Amino acid sequence: MDTLQATTLTNGQTTLSEEAIDEFAGRLRGPLITPGDDGYDAARQVWNGMIDKRPALIARCSGTADVIDAVNFARENDLLLAVRGGGHNVAGDAVCDGGLVIDLSEMRGVRVDPSAQTVRAEGGATWGDLDRETQAFGLVTPGGVVSTTGIAGLTLGGGLGWLRCKHGLSCDNLISADVVTADGELLPVSEDENPDLFWGLRGGGGNFGVVTSFEFELHEVGPTVMMCAVMYPAETAPEALPAWRDFMEAAPDEVSSQAYFWAVPDVEAFPAEARGENTFIVAAMHAGPPDEGERVLQPLRELGTPLVDLSGPMPYRAVQTLFDPFFPEGERHYYFKSRDLASLDDEVIDAIIDGAMDRPVPTILIAIWHYGGAMSRVGADETAFGSRDAPYLFSVDATWDDPADSERVIEWSRAFLDYMEPYAEDGMYVNFSGFGEEGDKLVRSAYGPNYERLARLKAEYDPDNLFRLNQNIRPAGGASDERRPEAA
Ligand code: FAD
Repeated sequence: MDTLQATTLTNGQTTLSEEAIDEFAGRLRGPLITPGDDGYDAARQVWNGMIDKRPALIARCSGTADVIDAVNFARENDLLLAVRGGGHNVAGDAVCDGGLVIDLSEMRGVRVDPSAQTVRAEGGATWGDLDRETQAFGLVTPGGVVSTTGIAGLTLGGGLGWLRCKHGLSCDNLISADVVTADGELLPVSEDENPDLFWGLRGGGGNFGVVTSFEFELHEVGPTVMMCAVMYPAETAPEALPAWRDFMEAAPDEVSSQAYFWAVPDVEAFPAEARGENTFIVAAMHAGPPDEGERVLQPLRELGTPLVDLSGPMPYRAVQTLFDPFFPEGERHYYFKSRDLASLDDEVIDAIIDGAMDRPVPTILIAIWHYGGAMSRVGADETAFGSRDAPYLFSVDATWDDPADSERVIEWSRAFLDYMEPYAEDGMYVNFSGFGEEGDKLVRSAYGPNYERLARLKAEYDPDNLFRLNQNIRPAGGASDERRPEAA
């Protein structure tokens, strides 16, 4: 190993000596991957195919001891540091140019305790890993709607999925966590131990350290549940979207649902005559007995004449992988950005339809997430998550294949969010935050009244802002103009 040029925390340059790198590599149980190594290009690739960052070092950790050594190495050498869970963050915060990546992708162990109805999973596990183990016992904890997403980033930012109205956000189901903090200490975190940090982990993102394991509460759901997935012609939306809203406002907690504007994908699973059609989609899962779910969700299947109706009872794990084929790793380009809506009254609906029908690329997905039920009954200051009161989340989930489309798709997405501004609340979902372009302003708006407490917590646990490649909370009392060293 030769010397390596690396990027410092404040975007300067430093030279790492051969001895220092060899000594670090020798301590790790997992491999230390450097430019030129076989597998370097695969190791630096994240979900978003737009991201092309070249870390100096990738520590593929095998366990907590590796994570502690890697955090210490980064701090002692003043290195820019990224932490990779599932690698789904669209801004590519899981990797960095010139710095050190703590890569947890091999730390995916999951252990279920069926009698206590709890599960403990390592920090690199995905929702697919977790669901596989918990469903063996007919149990679940709320995750996201794409099974390849990491449990870490999703839970730390909140965690929206098909169980949010029945059992809350992923972070609401967190019982405890193990966290390696900036000083390389391993802290147990729960309601009883380091409760302030426990508060911050539930929504505050990756700001406070590397979470090496998460313990969640489990609930009985499945193995079969009723799923509603109906694609209507987009022209149906002026009647169907208000009808969906009215249905959701009276729906039982068992139902969690999103409405989407999209194009019917050009894949065999869909009838040839429907492929490529502009569509308004109603997707909902019922978390109770399938026959009851079938009855409850039936009205959502009668909002018009469907182009395609994929609804039916199905295994919970099939629901959890339903969207996977449309979000492949590394190939496709992604830009997801959201705003909390103040309401979904008819004027807001008209604005959404107006914008959604004008998508420049058909694969741009416009999502409306209904909030409510269990996730809204948690007090606004009980966890760091910032958007408990919003009734709906509006999100532009742009996906496209041709790099030549990037500029116009991203510009259009930003313009649509600006157009929705008059109907928005001052908040958004940190896990759908684009490239974090607005920096501190965005983070303050996302956390609202919880921001100041988060900033104090950050000052206590990470005063030098070692963990800054995230929706970054500036340490209270620190330099207010501290910027992330790179923007995607
Ligand atoms: P990563 O990119 O690995 O990490 C994201 C952030 O968390 C980074 O800042 C990283 O440094 C930090 N981090 C990662 N692991 C750790 C750790 N162990 N300890 C401390 N910090 C860590 N969100 C939803 O709520 N519901 C959905 O249904 C949903 N679906 C999605 C589908 C797709 C296709 C994509 C691309 C995203 C989706 N998201 C969803 C958003 C998702 O929650 C965020 O992208 C989240 O950051 C992904 O977590 P990750 O671990 O995969 O990402």
